[in-house]
Amino acid sequence: MKKDKIEKVLTTCPYCGCGCNFYLNIENGKIVGVEPDNLHPVNKGELCIKGYFGYDYVHDPRRLTSPLVKKDGTLVPVSWDEALDYVAGRLKQIKQESGPDAFALFSSARSINEDNYMAQKFTRAVMGTNNVDHCARLCHASTVAGLAMTLGSGAMTNSIPEISAYSDVIFIIGSNTSECHPLIASCVLKAKERGAKLIVADPRMTEIANKADIWLRVPSGYNIPLINGMINVVIKEGLVKTDFIKEHTVGFEELVKAVEGYTPEYVEKLTGIPQKDLVKAARIYGKAGAAVILYTMGITQFSHGTGNVADCANLALITGNIGRPGTGVDPLRGQNNVQGACDMGALPTDLPGYLKVNVEENRARFEKIWGVKLPSIPGLKVTEVPDAILNHCVRALYVFGENPVMSDPDSDHLRHAFEHLDLLVVQDIFLTETARLADVVLPAACWGEKDGTFTNTERRVQRVRKAVDPPGNAKFDWWIFSKLAEKMGYTGMSYNNVEEIWDEIRRLVPEKFGGMSYERLDNNRGLQWPCPTEDHPGTPFLYKGGKFSTPTGKAQIYSILFNTGNPDTKLDFEVKENGKVIIGSIAELPDEEYPLVLTTGRRVYHYHTGTMTRKSPILNQMGPQEQVEVNPLDAARLGINDGDFIKISTRRGYVAARAWKTERVPKGTIFMTFHYWEACCNELTNTAIDPICCIPEFKVGAAKIEKI
Ligand code: SF4
Repeated sequence: MKKDKIEKVLTTCPYCGCGCNFYLNIENGKIVGVEPDNLHPVNKGELCIKGYFGYDYVHDPRRLTSPLVKKDGTLVPVSWDEALDYVAGRLKQIKQESGPDAFALFSSARSINEDNYMAQKFTRAVMGTNNVDHCARLCHASTVAGLAMTLGSGAMTNSIPEISAYSDVIFIIGSNTSECHPLIASCVLKAKERGAKLIVADPRMTEIANKADIWLRVPSGYNIPLINGMINVVIKEGLVKTDFIKEHTVGFEELVKAVEGYTPEYVEKLTGIPQKDLVKAARIYGKAGAAVILYTMGITQFSHGTGNVADCANLALITGNIGRPGTGVDPLRGQNNVQGACDMGALPTDLPGYLKVNVEENRARFEKIWGVKLPSIPGLKVTEVPDAILNHCVRALYVFGENPVMSDPDSDHLRHAFEHLDLLVVQDIFLTETARLADVVLPAACWGEKDGTFTNTERRVQRVRKAVDPPGNAKFDWWIFSKLAEKMGYTGMSYNNVEEIWDEIRRLVPEKFGGMSYERLDNNRGLQWPCPTEDHPGTPFLYKGGKFSTPTGKAQIYSILFNTGNPDTKLDFEVKENGKVIIGSIAELPDEEYPLVLTTGRRVYHYHTGTMTRKSPILNQMGPQEQVEVNPLDAARLGINDGDFIKISTRRGYVAARAWKTERVPKGTIFMTFHYWEACCNELTNTAIDPICCIPEFKVGAAKIEKI
C-alpha cells in the first residue's frame, strides 16, 4: 500500500511570521505533500497557499551542491577544505591589515535561531567586530526602536489566538494582512464573525480593507497625522484611561499639547480622510473593551518609521489597551524567523537576548562562556554597509541566506559597492542574484533538511525538524560557521548537534529562554518567551498589570509631530531627548519630473525575492510576473491599457513590467513588489533612512511611468 510508505514529519512553515505548523509527507526521501497541523494554536488545521505549495524548492535541481570559488572570473566547484581554507586565509589577512571592523556579516531571518546565533558568534568572537545585522533592518528596525523606547521591548505584545478570542476592535494600519499574514487575517475575520469591529488604514484597497467596517485611505507617508488625529479625538471626547496613564506612563501632558492642532478638519486637509470617518474610527477604538493594533511595513518602512510605531504605542497607552488579553501593539513579522534573528543577537547593537554590546556586564556574561574579549562599540547596520564599503572601511562581506541585491534599496548602488569588496562570501541554497557576484559561494542545507527552532511573530519558539537529506555536498549553516571558526583558530564553536547550540543559548539568556528545552518545545507546540524556568508556561502577552520593561518601569509617551513635506526640510527628523519629541517627514516627494508616488510590498503567491517560491510551479502559475498597480485615472491620462508594458522610472533607475489598471491604488500612486528579478522595485527605491533605526523609506518615493 502506497500510504504505508509515507512518513510524516511535523515542522514549522518556512515563510511568514505566523509560524503555522504542518506535516511534511515524505516518500522515498522526497517531500510529496503537506498536511496542516490541527493542534497548532495559530493555524488550527488551516494553511495558506504558500504553506501548501511552497515546498518544491527543496528538491529543485538548481540547488547548490558544491562550494564554488571564483577563478579567472568564473565560479568553479571546489572541495569544502579548499573553499574554507581560502575564506579563512583571506579573512585573517584582511583582519590583520585593516582590523576587525573591515568585516561585516548579513545574517538570515529565514534560517533557524541556532544558525543566527552561530553567525553573530562568528562575527563577534572570531572576527572581533559587532558588524552583524540582518533584514530586520529593512522591515521592522523601527518596531524594535519604537516599541523598545516606549514600552521596553521591541516584540509583539500579545498573541495571535487572542485576536479571534478576545479583541472587540482590531485596528490594522499599514498591513496587507490577507496576503502577507493570511492566517492572522483569518483570526481577524473570525473575530469579526463574533461581532468585533475592524478599522483598516491603508492607501491601497487591500482584501482586508475591503472587509473593514471603516477603511481610512491614508496617503502613503501620512500615518502620523492620522494617528495624531485619532488621539486628538480620543482626548477631546474623554475616552482616555486616566488612572492607567497616571499610574503606568510618563509624557501624557506633552502629548496633549502636541496633538492639539491635529483636529479632524486639519487631518482631512492633509490626508483627504473624511472627518466623520476619522472621528468614528477614534470613537470605536477609544470605547473598546479590548482593542488591538496590528501593523507591518506600511508604517515601519519610512524615514520616520520609528515615529509611526511610537505613535501607535501612544494610542494604545492612553486608552489602556495594553497588558491584557486581546489588546496590545502587534508588529506582524514578515519572514518566518525575523523575530528569532533579532532575539539571537544578529544586530549590531545587541548580543543575544537584546543585551546591549556597550554594557560591560553584558559582554562579561558572554566572554565567560565564549572565552574571548568582545568588542564594545556597536557595529554597522545593513543600510550603512554599502557606503562603508565605498569608503574602504569594510573590505570583506559575508552574506548568509539573504539576497540583498534584490531586497535592499537602490540595487545599482549596492552592486556598485559590492564591486569594491576584496572578498564577498555568500552562503545560500541557490545561486541568487547576490551569489552571482560572490568570490566564494558556500552551499547550505535548507529548512526541510535541518533540525532547529524558529520564533514566530508572537514570540513562540517552535521546532523545525529534518525531513530529508541535503543535496550533494550542501552542509548545515551552523556546521559551516563552526568549521570556518576552527580554521581561523577558534575552537569555541564546535558542537555535535544543533541542540547543543540551543542549550548554550538557554544558559546564556536564561531570563528569556531558560525553560525552553527541545523536549518542552516538542511537547507544547512551542513556547512564548520569556520562559525562564522549566516549570514556566511561557508568556502569551507582555506588560500584565501595566508593568513595562523600560528602565523606570513606566511606559514613555513620545510626542510625534509631522513635517508637512516642505522639500527643503527633507529628513527633518529628530528626537529631542528632553522633550521626548519625534518629528517625521517624507524624504522624496513627487514633483514635476516624477509626479507619482511609488509604494512597494508583497503579494500572497511569492515570498520576498522569489528565491524559493518562484521554484514552485503552482505558485508561479498563480503569480507569474510583476503587475504594476496603476489607478485607472492615471492610466487614462497616460494612454496605458491593462496589461500594457510600461517603463517605471525614478532617480535611481528604471524597469519594465506590465500595468494592472486597478482602483486598489489611489490616483497618483503606483504599487510594485520585489519578487521578480526581471522587474524588481528595489532598482527604483530610495536609500533615505530613518535616522534613529536606519530603516529605508521603501513605502514612498517619486516615480514616473510611460507606455513602452
Ligand atoms: Fe506559512 Fe504564513 Fe501561510 Fe502560515 S500563513 S502557511 S506561516 S506562509
